[in-house]
Amino acid sequence: MSYSNKPRVIIVGGGFAGMACARALANAGVEIKLIDRRNFHLFQPLLYQVASGGLSPANIAAPLRSVFRRQRNVQVLMNGVDGFDVAAQEVLLEDGSHLQYDYLVVATGSTHHYFGKDAQWEPFAPGLKTIEDATRIRRTLLTAFEAAEREEDESLRASLLTFVIVGGGPTGVEMAGAICELARYTLKNEFRSINPASARIILVESSEEILDRYHPDLYRYAKRALLELGAEVCCNARVEEIHSDHVVIKQSGTLKRIDTRNVIWAAGVKASGLAKKMAEAIGNEAIIDRGGRIATDGMCAVLGAKNVFAAGDMAAFPLEDGTTLPGVAPVAMQQGHYIGSRIAKLVAGETPDQPFKYWDKGNMATIGRSRAVLESGKWRMTGWFAWLAWLFIHILYLARFENRMLVLFQWFWGYITRNRTARLITGSEQESEPSSKSAPLLGWLALVGVASMASGGMAQDVQSIHHPPAPTIEIHESKVISWKPPLYHGWPTLTQRKDGELLLAFSGGREAHVCPFGRLEWMRSKDGGKTWGWPQVLLDSPIDDRDAGVVETAAGTILVTHFTSLAFEPILERAERIPVGQPGGFTEAKLIDEWRAARDRLSPDQRQSELGCYMIRSADGGTTWSERYRVPVNSPHGPIVTRDGRLLYAGKSLWEGGKLGFFESVDDGRTWNPLADLPTRPGDDASLYHELHAVSGSDGLLVCHIRNGNKNHQGETLQSESCDGGRTWSLPHGIDVWGLPSHLLRLADGRLLMTYGYRRAPYGIQARISADSGQTWSEPIVLSDDGIGGDLGYPSTIERLDGTLVTVWYEVLQGSPLAQLRQARWKMLSDPSNRVE
Ligand SMILES: Cc1cc2nc3c(=O)[nH]c(=O)nc-3n(C[C@H](O)[C@H](O)[C@H](O)COP(=O)(O)OP(=O)(O)OC[C@H]3O[C@@H](n4cnc5c(N)ncnc54)[C@H](O)[C@@H]3O)c2cc1C
Repeated sequence: MSYSNKPRVIIVGGGFAGMACARALANAGVEIKLIDRRNFHLFQPLLYQVASGGLSPANIAAPLRSVFRRQRNVQVLMNGVDGFDVAAQEVLLEDGSHLQYDYLVVATGSTHHYFGKDAQWEPFAPGLKTIEDATRIRRTLLTAFEAAEREEDESLRASLLTFVIVGGGPTGVEMAGAICELARYTLKNEFRSINPASARIILVESSEEILDRYHPDLYRYAKRALLELGAEVCCNARVEEIHSDHVVIKQSGTLKRIDTRNVIWAAGVKASGLAKKMAEAIGNEAIIDRGGRIATDGMCAVLGAKNVFAAGDMAAFPLEDGTTLPGVAPVAMQQGHYIGSRIAKLVAGETPDQPFKYWDKGNMATIGRSRAVLESGKWRMTGWFAWLAWLFIHILYLARFENRMLVLFQWFWGYITRNRTARLITGSEQESEPSSKSAPLLGWLALVGVASMASGGMAQDVQSIHHPPAPTIEIHESKVISWKPPLYHGWPTLTQRKDGELLLAFSGGREAHVCPFGRLEWMRSKDGGKTWGWPQVLLDSPIDDRDAGVVETAAGTILVTHFTSLAFEPILERAERIPVGQPGGFTEAKLIDEWRAARDRLSPDQRQSELGCYMIRSADGGTTWSERYRVPVNSPHGPIVTRDGRLLYAGKSLWEGGKLGFFESVDDGRTWNPLADLPTRPGDDASLYHELHAVSGSDGLLVCHIRNGNKNHQGETLQSESCDGGRTWSLPHGIDVWGLPSHLLRLADGRLLMTYGYRRAPYGIQARISADSGQTWSEPIVLSDDGIGGDLGYPSTIERLDGTLVTVWYEVLQGSPLAQLRQARWKMLSDPSNRVE
C-alpha cells in the first residue's frame, strides 16, 4: 500500500468519532487511511427503529466510501484492526498486514457487556449494537407474534408474547416504547387467534428510576408515558438469571420468575477490545478503566504513546470532578473533530495547547410514536414538541442527504398510519419459524450465530410491487455476430475492458444445446461491437464446456469461467436404445458414433473427475493463459468487480453439494475464499436456486439476482441484497420480474440495469432499470421480441463511454435451428427523472 510523503494519519473506526476526525482533516496536508471492518457508518441512535420495523437498515447506514468520495485525502479501507506496535508506529491488521502511521486515532466504539455473564446471557438476550443485532431483534419480535398465532397452549403463547427489555436507559426506554407501539397499534387486526395488544412489555431497571441521569420531571414523564402505552416498568429490579424460557429478577429482595422467550439486552456496554490491545502495546494496562476504556489526557492523547489519540466510546476522558465523559454520540463527534483539528495544526507546524472541552448540548429520548423527553442545560421539554425536535435533530445528523429524505418520509408515513413499513421477517427458515417447544427465539438465534441480514430497505412490506415506467430506447442495430452459423453457440458473457475493448466469451463448437463437444471460446471487438474478430478457442476439455463468464479485474487480469457437464450422457444412452429417426432418437447413426466416441475418450470415472467449476486467467491481456483451475462455484457470467475494486463471485457449487454463496478473491482471482452463504427463503428448496449474478450499486449496496425454480415466484428472478460488502445477505425475495437469468450492470449515472431472457411469448430479451439500487425495477424495456421459442437468453450488457449499451445473447433463430450469438446496440433516451444523484 503506497503513501505519498505527506504525514500519514490512520483513523481506526468509521463511527461518529472517526468520521468527524477525518472531516476535520479535509484541508490538512495529510494522507488519511480510514480503516473500518464494516464499509458503512452506522447511525446507532436509530437502531431501535430498525429493530422494531420502523426503518430499514439502509436508512441508517451510509457507505463510508460514498461519504468521503469528494474528500481526496481520505482512503477508506475495509479491514479489521487487530493490534498495534507503538514503537514501530504500526497498526496491525486482521489480514496479517500492517500499516505505518505518523498519527494514529483509535475510535472503535464499544460492545455489549453482560457484567461477567456474557457466555450465559448473551445467547438468550441479544444487545442492540449492530445492523445484524437490529435485524435479528426485528425478526425475533415479529416471529414471536407469528409463533403465538399458531400456538395452542395458553401458557406457551403467553410466554411468546412477553418481551423483557433489560436496562432503563435511553435505548431500553426507546425499545420498550417501540414494541408497545408495534403490539398495540401496528399489529392491530392483523392476527386471528391472538390479540397482539395483550403482549406484555416489561422494562427492567436496576436503579430507582428509568432514565435516571435525566431531570426527575423528565424521568417521571417517561415512566408515565410508558405506562400509558401499556408497558410494565420494574425499577429497583436486578436481573439474576436469563434462561431459554424465563428470566429471574430480584426486586425489593424478592425473586420473581418471568416466563418469556424474548429478552433484549440494553443494560451495559464495554469499550472495544482494541483499547486493551493499545494498553498492552504501550505496556501499561493500568490505563484501562473498569469499562475497558483507555485513559487519555486533556488533549485526547493516549497516555504513554506518541502521536496516538483515542476518541468516543472507547476513550476515558478525564473531567475535573474525577468522572469521565459519557459514551454518547456528541462526545465522540466533538472529540473526533478536536483531534482532527489538532493533527492539522501539528502538521502545519503549530503547537496547539487548548485542551478538549465538551459542549454538552443536552440529552433526549423518545417514548413511542409521539412522545419524547429533551433537556439542555436548565431547559427541558416533554411531549409532542420534544418528539418533533428529537425527530429533526436525528434527521439532521443522518450522514447522507438521501437517507434523510427517505427516513423523514418513512417516519412521516409511519406517524400518520401507525404502520411500520420495514416489517419483513427475514433470515433462515429455522430462524423465522421458531416453535415454542424449541430453543428460545433469541437464544437459539444467537447460539447458531446466524448472521443472515435482512435488508428491509430493499424488501419493503408491500402487497404489490410497483414498476416505474420504462425509459424509451433507440435500438441502433440488432444483428447476429457469430462466425460459425452451422454450430450452436450458447451462454455468452460480454465485458468491457478499461481500454474500451469488448470481450465476448461463450460456449462454441457445439452441435446442440446439450452435447459433448462444447468448448470455451472468445471473440474481441475494438470498436464497441461494430465488428468482431475471429473466435479463438481458450479451452476444450474432454467433456462438455458450458456457460462462459468473463471479467477484467482491477489489476487488468482477464478471468474466464465455465463449468463442465455430462448432461449429454443420458441423451446418448437413450439414443442408443431408440432406432435412428424415431422420436427421442438421433437423425443419423453417424451422430451416435460421434457422440459415443467423444464420450468414450475417458472412462466413466475419469469423466466424473472432470466435472467441475473452473477458471483460467491471463495477466497479459489474453495472449497467454494459466492452466484451468477449480473454483468453488459457477455462475453464467462469472465473478464481478465491485465498485471499490473487490473481486466477488456469487454462484452455485454445481457438483459438490449445490451450495449457493458468495466468494471473494484477494489475490486477483487465483484463489477464492467463502464470504457468505445465500440464505434460503422459508418454504423454498435451495437446490432450485440457480445462476446468481451480483452488482454493487453506487451507494455500496450489493444486489444479487437469482434464477428461481421454486413454486413461489416460479420462473421469476429473485433478489437478495447486502449492505455490508457481501458478508451477510437478505432473504431472496420476488421483484415481480418474470424471466431469467439476469445479468446486472451499474451504469455510469449510478442506475442499475438488469437484462434477462424472456422465454415465453413474445420470446426475446428484456431489460429493466432501477434508479434506487434495486428497490424498484422499471417496466420492461424490450430489446428483442421476435424469438421463435424458449431456446434463447443469457444476455449480458456493457455501457460505452457515449452511453450506448451493447447487449449480447444466444438465440435459436428462424432458419437456424442451432443457436447463434445475437447483439443489440441501443441507447436509453434521456430520462433525468430516473438519475441517481
Ligand atoms: C442502540 C443505541 C442507541 C444509542 N442512542 C444514542 C442517542 O440517542 N444519543 C447519543 O448521543 N448516543 C447514542 N448512542 C451512543 C452512540 O451511538 C455512541 O456513543 C457513538 O456511536 C460512539 O461513537 P464512536 O465513534 O466512539 O464509535 P462507533 O460509532 O461505535 O464506531 C466505531 C466504529 O469502529 C469500527 N470498529 C470496531 N472495531 C474495529 C476493529 N477492530 N477494526 C476496525 N474497525 C473497527 C466499527 O465497525 C464502527 O464503525 C446509542 C448507542 C446505541 C448502541
